[in-house]
Amino acid sequence: MNAIPQKTNVLVVGGGPAGSTAAGLLAREGFDVTLLEQAQFPRYHIGESLLPTILPILELLGIREKVEARGFQQKQGAYLEWGSETWALDFGELSGNYTHAFQVRRDEFDLMMLENASELGAKVFQNVEVRSLQMDGDRPVRAAWQQKAVNGSQPQQGEISFDYLIDASGRNGLMANRYLKNRKYHNVFQNVGVWGYWKNTDRLATGREGDIAVGSIPNGWLWGIPLSDGTMSIGAVMHKNIFNQYKNKEMDAIYSEAIDASPLMRKITKNAELISEVKTESDYSYASEKFCGPGYFMVGDAACFLDPLLSSGVHLATMSAMLASASIISFTRGDVDEAESQSFFENSYRQAYLRFLVFLSAFYDVGRTKESYFWEAQRVTQQDVPADFLKLAFLNLVTGVKDLADIQSDETHHFVLEEMTKRIDDNLRWRQDKKALAGMQGEKLASVRENANFFDSIEGIFSINESEAIGGLYVTLVPTFGLARVKQTS
Ligand SMILES: Cc1cc2nc3c(=O)[nH]c(=O)nc-3n(C[C@H](O)[C@H](O)[C@H](O)COP(=O)(O)OP(=O)(O)OC[C@H]3O[C@@H](n4cnc5c(N)ncnc54)[C@H](O)[C@@H]3O)c2cc1C
Repeated sequence: MNAIPQKTNVLVVGGGPAGSTAAGLLAREGFDVTLLEQAQFPRYHIGESLLPTILPILELLGIREKVEARGFQQKQGAYLEWGSETWALDFGELSGNYTHAFQVRRDEFDLMMLENASELGAKVFQNVEVRSLQMDGDRPVRAAWQQKAVNGSQPQQGEISFDYLIDASGRNGLMANRYLKNRKYHNVFQNVGVWGYWKNTDRLATGREGDIAVGSIPNGWLWGIPLSDGTMSIGAVMHKNIFNQYKNKEMDAIYSEAIDASPLMRKITKNAELISEVKTESDYSYASEKFCGPGYFMVGDAACFLDPLLSSGVHLATMSAMLASASIISFTRGDVDEAESQSFFENSYRQAYLRFLVFLSAFYDVGRTKESYFWEAQRVTQQDVPADFLKLAFLNLVTGVKDLADIQSDETHHFVLEEMTKRIDDNLRWRQDKKALAGMQGEKLASVRENANFFDSIEGIFSINESEAIGGLYVTLVPTFGLARVKQTS
């Protein structure tokens, strides 16, 4: 194996979906990229349900065909028993866009992504932990690493200097937790996940094999994710206070009580057998105060994390990696200056995150059937997102610039959540009557499309065309990958 170099153009810390996407895109553009990953892949990771936005990312990385051919479970949509509603959601049904995604075993998927980064030219080293960073003022310039002893070799250590750092270290958050100390946990979504793997589940309980099943319970909600090997990942998400109340209870008992509380999951697991240990992870949502600074970009969970209800994790990880790579490429080419590239990244990633955060909160509100502590706790407030941030994230999206700009700060949250809830309700109504949807024309069809575009702008990859530019910049994929300026009209 080659030795870890002493110098590199871009150092990527972490080889999850965020790190491997950034490393691959930058290496393909000719950057000298070194990626250090502390684990040996394939390694276990939670987060198996992907969104259709993974397809354009895989296309950009040149591995869509390979991933399609791998035989991951295809996912055409979601089935939700959410509060008093039943919701069969087909991807692309309202918009005609990408119509599927995948349910993946993350050990296999992440390995494919990491190998692809290496094939695109990144120098990838596994079993190598970045232990510390050396700063020149506010700018990280060198990393100290330690390599585990593998196959009888001695542990090694060394240093590597770099021009840019991409921190893709996930929830470890190398920059945010160790140096910037700027990770802020939201009051909302202070939830805990507990999950396990099952065999012999009823995979057709939702009407269609491959969909993610989601069922709400008084204390939270559960996911059921069917995987291609015939097993199913079943997890429960509940507020941390609910776990505190159960102090003397074993985690396994809390888990099976949650499954029992959901008619949908009871049906799915009726003849099934739990074949793994029960795992748990706090999934409190957080965001760093800054996502980038001189010489560094934080991508994926290293910058921010969101409750898994909408399966947004890998989407935000790969999209932010794309935004950071485009920013570095354009700054290095001299198309934009460093401050502009940082401001573009900061604003576009934060807006993507905030839109999701508020969408989640509105979605939780729709599911609320009774005054249970869990559901109340999912309401986003001014403390979670300042009104100005929220306005910025939703300008041009909620009823047009003027309406939102005119709203008083203390009314912003209420206004945005109400607008969002209205659209979620419309979306549900249209999806429930498939026959009416198929025959829709004229103005009605235009409202359906408008509704679909609204959610695409929240859940999709945005700032990749002129109309969604942020600060006058957007990402271009062709003819070259990078940032472009909106053309001035005279
Ligand atoms: C309960 C739960 C359920 C979830 N469900 C979903 C879901 O269904 N769908 C979805 O899309 N997302 C889901 N997520 C979120 C998803 O797991 C993450 O958002 C996603 O993995 C983020 O990717 P990443 O590349 O940023 O980080 P990671 O995938 O965590 O990768 C970070 C990598 O960095 C490495 N690393 C860390 N520190 C160092 C260091 N110092 N030196 C070297 N390497 C280092 C780690 O070993 C790791 O491989 C869920 C999360 C939770 C908690």
